[in-house]
Amino acid sequence: MPASSLQHLINANHAWAERVEREQPGFFKTLAAQQTPEYLWIGCSDSRVPANQVIGLAPGEVFVHRNVANVVVPSDLNALSVIQFAVDVLKVKHIMVVGHYGCGGVLAVLHDQRVGLADNWLRHVNDVKMRHRGRLMHLCGGEQEDALCEMNAIEQVGHVAQSTIVQDAWARGQQLSIHGWCYGLKDGKVKDLQVTMSRPDHVVDVYRAAIKRYPRAATFVPELDDTDPQADEV
Ligand SMILES: [Zn+2]
Repeated sequence: MPASSLQHLINANHAWAERVEREQPGFFKTLAAQQTPEYLWIGCSDSRVPANQVIGLAPGEVFVHRNVANVVVPSDLNALSVIQFAVDVLKVKHIMVVGHYGCGGVLAVLHDQRVGLADNWLRHVNDVKMRHRGRLMHLCGGEQEDALCEMNAIEQVGHVAQSTIVQDAWARGQQLSIHGWCYGLKDGKVKDLQVTMSRPDHVVDVYRAAIKRYPRAATFVPELDDTDPQADEV
C-alpha cells in the first residue's frame, strides 16, 4: 500500500459497518431514515475528546459541533446554525458545552504562547482569562490551567443561554437545558461544572454561583463585578 493511501481506514470502516449490521440488523437503514438526538455536544476539536465515545452513545444519538477550545460567540454563524438546527428542527433537550483539562488552546492563552492564525480565535478565551484574572492569577501550575479550562466552558454556557435561539425556545415553552462539563484526558471522566441553565430567569444566578466557586485572591480589588454577565473585563 503506498504511503499516501488511506485504504487502511476504508478497510476499518467497512469492517466496523459490517460488525454493527451483524450485531444490530437494520441499524443503518433505520438511522438513514431519521435522526432524533436528544443532545447537542459543543466541544473542542481535540482528537482525544470524541463526543460519542465519551458518553457511550451510538451514531444518531448526539448532534455535534466542535471547534478549537469549545468557544461559542454570537458572531459565529457556524456555531449558531448548528444550535439553531439542533433546537428548532431536531428539538434536542440538552446542550452540553464540554471543555477539557489540558486543552492546548486554553493553555496557549494562559501561557501567552503564539500558535498562529488561531491566536485570533483564542482571543475569546483570552477575554475569559482577563475578566476573571483575579480568580486565576493567584493559583499555580495545574490548578490555574484546570480553572481556566473550567471557566472557559462556564462562560460558553452563558453565551449559548443568551443566544436568541435558546431565548426564543424558552419563550415558547420548549424544554431545553444547557450544561457545562469538563472532560479529563487522564481518566476519561467528565466533571459536571454545576452550571445547568433551564430557564431564562435563572441564567444570571446560575452563572454567578458557578464563577464564585473560584475564590479571588484576598489582595485583588476588582473595579467591576466579574460575575455580572454583561461586565467588561476587570
Ligand atoms: Zn482543547
